[in-house]
Amino acid sequence: MKIFRKIFNIPTKKQEIILSQEYDKILQIAEDESSKHYNKEYEYEKRLNNICPRCRATNIVDKIAQVKGEGSISGSFVLGSGSVYGSSSVDTNGVNHCNNCGHQWKKYQRSFLSKNDILIDWVNDIVSLYTRDKTFDLLKDFSAESIWKIYKTVSSQCYYSTRENISLSLLRKKFKSIYK
Ligand SMILES: [Zn+2]
Repeated sequence: MKIFRKIFNIPTKKQEIILSQEYDKILQIAEDESSKHYNKEYEYEKRLNNICPRCRATNIVDKIAQVKGEGSISGSFVLGSGSVYGSSSVDTNGVNHCNNCGHQWKKYQRSFLSKNDILIDWVNDIVSLYTRDKTFDLLKDFSAESIWKIYKTVSSQCYYSTRENISLSLLRKKFKSIYK
């Protein structure tokens, strides 16, 4: 019976509970990674936009390239200092202007990685021939069956090569199995 459970991936009630706890834990780790990424990017953005790379002054104002007529850029105008934009959208034509030396540079726009993006990244990474240690370290205590379940929720967004190559038996070669 045990071997059939493994072949057809039919967990007992007890195994099912463990798998569902593992699944929740993996989602939690992805959530944590997502906010870590956000905080890092937020700090990076603040530093790159608020300090002049030429003279290190912090007297920086936002400017926006003014687009007239058929998309030609004719100068720029000051929008004021501080945060003009909301946190969600930064105009792609926005530049930083240093009031000390006049240097202008393109605004850094932070990137976002959602919990889902991170799960997709992990699955692609696990199936690739050169799995990064970081991914494996994060997930090494989980069962292949839990990771398989994660894959099922993001499969349509994974690389084609991932979908071609992934299988529960491949995951069992890299992770422990709930069926031992
Ligand atoms: Zn400057």
